[in-house]
Amino acid sequence: MNPSPSKPLRILSLSTTVGALGTGLGGGVELTLHNISQALRQRGHAVTIVAPCGSHLGDLPIVQIPGQLQTLAQTQGRTDPVLLPPDAVLANMWAYARAVQDEYDLLLNYAYDWLPLYLTPFFGRPIAHLISMGSLSDAMDQIMQQVGTQFPGTFGVHSRAQAETFATADDYRVLGNGLDLALYEFCPEATEGLGWVGRIAPEKGLEDAIAAASHANLPLQIWGAMANPGYWQQIQRTYPDARVEYRGFLPTAQLQHELGRCQGLLMTPKWIEAFGNVAIEALACGVPVIAYRRGGPAEIVMDGKTGWLVQPDRIEGLVEAIARLDQIDRAACRQQVEADYSMAAMGDRVERWLMDILVNRYSG
Ligand code: UDP
Repeated sequence: MNPSPSKPLRILSLSTTVGALGTGLGGGVELTLHNISQALRQRGHAVTIVAPCGSHLGDLPIVQIPGQLQTLAQTQGRTDPVLLPPDAVLANMWAYARAVQDEYDLLLNYAYDWLPLYLTPFFGRPIAHLISMGSLSDAMDQIMQQVGTQFPGTFGVHSRAQAETFATADDYRVLGNGLDLALYEFCPEATEGLGWVGRIAPEKGLEDAIAAASHANLPLQIWGAMANPGYWQQIQRTYPDARVEYRGFLPTAQLQHELGRCQGLLMTPKWIEAFGNVAIEALACGVPVIAYRRGGPAEIVMDGKTGWLVQPDRIEGLVEAIARLDQIDRAACRQQVEADYSMAAMGDRVERWLMDILVNRYSG
């Protein structure tokens, strides 16, 4: 084939394998997959999504694949061996991809799994790997290094900080992320206390946000998939009197409506967050973001302009930043997302990355 920006591409997108799309268990990958697919379709490309059975993603058509889900990489140790359950949906998705690959120009992998990386040289079609996490596993690091050496330029990441957790960071394309701004209403004035959005899981550090909100004597609303109920129960035992309200996992339309009323969003992850979709979602609504100076959020939040960056793991720093939330202009928050994280801006970056992969593949 002869790739050119004017020729529409046929793209087969393979989803995360830790949960059906729409459940929230896939974390930010769900929104990312939705938005990248929309952005590429808006540019005339054809996108087919392959995902575990039970998936739904707005009005995007999905090839539903049966099988058992993968274990979350975040719950595995760094030196643990690679796991595959019997009748793995991961294996079934990639068997499907292998059978239909000739109907596509390129495969786009969204899963942080070893198998698709290992399979890459055995496929006739090029595979772009969009890596959604920082380094967590030696086995993943090793296979990423091998595949990255054999197929330079085929890895995309969301932030520089995420890329730097891997040895081969320089070769990774930093793509950021993007939102359909029409779905996020700007809310000029806050009527609620603080917000926190994310999977309820230890790496997200919810306990720090609760501690800070309590010190600041403000209520905290929480939205997100209940990924780890044991962790949530432990938090409730530790902070029995905290003014927190768990609102559940909401569709984007409802989430942005409720989140938009908050004075500020707290982001208190304990790991190197690859990006932090919830940061740009809050900013799009005009909600300033207070985040630890670590990982993706530290590259998104403009300290003193669209929020405050705080020394990681320091509750007092969060409390000080909460006291200074009124210095942030909510309109500036929205403007930052319009400039850097629109669908158009993200579509440009992703389209260029995919085109470069195809040009490299067929020029050599
Ligand atoms: N989310 C949602 N509804 C909710 C809470 C969260 O749709 O009620 C989504 C949110 O839009 C975001 C994702 O959950 O896309 C969390 O992703 P993030 O990148 O912040 O972190 P991850 O879970 O990938 O570590």
